[in-house]
Amino acid sequence: MRADVVIVGAGLAGLQCARQLTRRGVNVVLADRKPAVGERIHTTGILVRKTLEDFALPEDCLGPIVRTVRLISPAGRTLEIASDRDEFRVGRMASLYEHMLAGFLHAGGRYLPGTRYLHAHPAPGGSIVHLSREGAPFNVGCRLLIGADGARSRVAPDLGLDQNHEWIVGVEDVLPARPLDGPPRFDCYLDPRIAPGYLAWAVNDGQEMHIGVGGYAAHFNAAAALEQFRDRVGIDAANEPIVEHRGGLIPVNGILRRIANERGLLIGDAAGAVSPLTAGGLDPAIRLSTLAADVAVEVLAGNTAALARYRGDQFSSRFISRRWMRKAIAAIRSPRLMELTCAAIRTWPMRRLANHIFFGRGSFPDVQVLPLHQQAIE
Ligand SMILES: Cc1cc2nc3c(=O)[nH]c(=O)nc-3n(C[C@H](O)[C@H](O)[C@H](O)COP(=O)(O)OP(=O)(O)OC[C@H]3O[C@@H](n4cnc5c(N)ncnc54)[C@H](O)[C@@H]3O)c2cc1C
Repeated sequence: MRADVVIVGAGLAGLQCARQLTRRGVNVVLADRKPAVGERIHTTGILVRKTLEDFALPEDCLGPIVRTVRLISPAGRTLEIASDRDEFRVGRMASLYEHMLAGFLHAGGRYLPGTRYLHAHPAPGGSIVHLSREGAPFNVGCRLLIGADGARSRVAPDLGLDQNHEWIVGVEDVLPARPLDGPPRFDCYLDPRIAPGYLAWAVNDGQEMHIGVGGYAAHFNAAAALEQFRDRVGIDAANEPIVEHRGGLIPVNGILRRIANERGLLIGDAAGAVSPLTAGGLDPAIRLSTLAADVAVEVLAGNTAALARYRGDQFSSRFISRRWMRKAIAAIRSPRLMELTCAAIRTWPMRRLANHIFFGRGSFPDVQVLPLHQQAIE
């Protein structure tokens, strides 16, 4: 088999890149070890305003609008911040991935589900990619190999590109929504006992409820912390209809510096494209992979100079303050210190900062990509 581009990983990043490339006439093979794109989803799926404004996601793949966030301290003190804009929507990710895959297939792309990436090596004109399906190995030759294979990318070292080195672990339950006692809400629990270095979340948009915990693996047992958190928010796991368990690693080292060379590119989590502070990776995944497709088209046309547009170091300066804030949060190990931090957040200047973090457009730098009408996911 031969292709212009092999993409490993059909998550949000891989699907977006694959679809953008096929629409522009590129011959793409998209391989993923999962048997179907809608299975084993590992994200809550909270999409931020920036994504909702810039990308035309199909309405039936989005939950109701969320405009209110509550920050809850270890002692249960609450700070509510509300926006007058439509800030978040929880994506129905299986539907969204299936929708994007259908677009890719319709444009002529080849999708290989249940196909594991083994390794790749350089060959004249690009790479030979070794894959395996149902235990049977086979090769695909390509000009460009794109690693969209998540936080612990195996494509990255094979391309000689940078690799993630700092992660948090996130686990969550998805349940049917509980009756709302106000507008749809995103509750963030700041408590190092259940979420060391990050937060625990409960999102109820009126149709679905997600409750989860995240933190540094070295400082907690994620499954035990989720159990503790269920108790705290009053979920009785034995009797509640838990629809799905989700979980995975989230890279928080900030975008990697070397994310492309003449043999290929990294996108999404594989490129470390996640906000180091909020651990939001969906906006970066969709945004960076749109840029990657743009650059790949130029490289395939012989303009390798276009790779200069796809360097992680051009974005990394934008992450400096967020990386410092991440270090500060990671250093808070005692509930008492977190209580004091929460008290500080309730003061006016810090409240403004919280507003900026939750409702700003700064989760990932804007990148120069195609005109908006060409980015539509519909
Ligand atoms: C619990 C949790 C909750 C989260 N919630 C949010 C949120 O609400 N909002 C937000 O913005 N971000 C969130 N994130 C982060 C966000 O989900 C990720 O940044 C984003 O999904 C990354 O997309 P991706 O396409 O790069 O990677 P993935 O979605 O991880 O896709 C990688 C794909 O590669 C495939 N793959 C991996 N290895 C191989 C291999 N060897 N061979 C073949 N295929 C392979 C996998 O099967 C997978 O389909 C969350 C993360 C976690 C863990």
